[in-house]
Amino acid sequence: MTERVVIIGSGPAGWAAAIYAARANLQPLVIEGAQTEENRIKGTLPLGQLALTSEVENYPGFPTGDLAAYVKSAVPADRFLADHTGHGITGPELLELMRQQAVNFGTRIITNDVTEIDLSRHPFKMKADDGYGAVQEIEALSVIIATGARANYLGLPSEETYKNNGVSACAVCDGALPRFRNKPLVVVGGGDSAMEEATYLTHFASQVHLVHRRDSFRASKIMADRVLANSKINIKWNSVVDEVLGNEKQGVTGVRIRNLLTEKSEEVEAGGYFAAIGHTPNTDFLKGQLKLTDKKYLVWTTPQRTYTSVEGVFAAGDVADDYYRQAITAAGTGCMAALDAERWLALKNFH
Ligand code: NAP
Repeated sequence: MTERVVIIGSGPAGWAAAIYAARANLQPLVIEGAQTEENRIKGTLPLGQLALTSEVENYPGFPTGDLAAYVKSAVPADRFLADHTGHGITGPELLELMRQQAVNFGTRIITNDVTEIDLSRHPFKMKADDGYGAVQEIEALSVIIATGARANYLGLPSEETYKNNGVSACAVCDGALPRFRNKPLVVVGGGDSAMEEATYLTHFASQVHLVHRRDSFRASKIMADRVLANSKINIKWNSVVDEVLGNEKQGVTGVRIRNLLTEKSEEVEAGGYFAAIGHTPNTDFLKGQLKLTDKKYLVWTTPQRTYTSVEGVFAAGDVADDYYRQAITAAGTGCMAALDAERWLALKNFH
């Protein structure tokens, strides 16, 4: 059987694409990624980066707090249908809801990684491996790539220990959580992300220590100047983080940093640690078959469209976006990719 739409990836972009493609009667197949230890370590398990965060406070429609009370107060009585209970939404919950919504409309899912893909001929061909030896060969008329990106970490074992317990790679996602309020926080990096995260965190933190390995920033001047002028940001130049400190109960309590010029180490108290040393898009499996940027992100070849350099292949979400990188923007481009695929298939008389 030749699939009409195969969606590779299972973050907000993938599920939004699936919901739209399924409602267009295209019976999409989502290849959501394999449940393997290797993917866990890389940060590429099914459901993507959002599944690695705790609460999501900025996804429209899901305010924090008691959702039941909110819906009751926000919706007129004659339109209030269900008894809601509970709280705001967590990243994993939001993704499970999207996944279920896609399934309800007829999306099929396999929990595999695409390990090989041939986009040089049509129908496209790919191999999907469950990580335990079972490989499926799949043929598709159109493909939506929504494999996302993964945050880079320094690779310290202690970062791994406190992930979701004070260690984060997304200040915009997590910075406003109660655990980070009115405490000193640490950000690592010297690019625009680090500037943005450090500045953003000053709204909540008592102080932000920005640790950078050199004596000048890579970031754009305007963003670097904003950081340099912010009295709440203390810059630790020529320094690296050797260990994230903490305990199971409190999570992160500080970091041990080392000055590269003096080789002196010090412990800095902190209630949170944010890695802002860049992201890596999950495009390795494409092996150069689509046009990529110099940072290996997929290129959208036409403004306001999700087209890639191969006709019939579309891209959505963080795999093609190193700029906005939000769940809502990923979902938006996922919707666009499904509409683009549907229209392209119709244009080619494929259904
Ligand atoms: P980036 O520009 O690649 O910067 C990464 C930073 O992390 C660099 O300062 C680098 O240090 C440091 N770093 C990398 N690996 C490290 C390691 N192992 N240990 C310690 N430090 C390490 O990445 P980014 O800041 O995420 O930005 C990515 C892109 O998004 C850029 O094009 C950026 O302009 C854009 N962006 C724009 C905005 C905005 O305009 N609002 C916001 C965020 C991102 P070195 O400098 O020593 O290499």
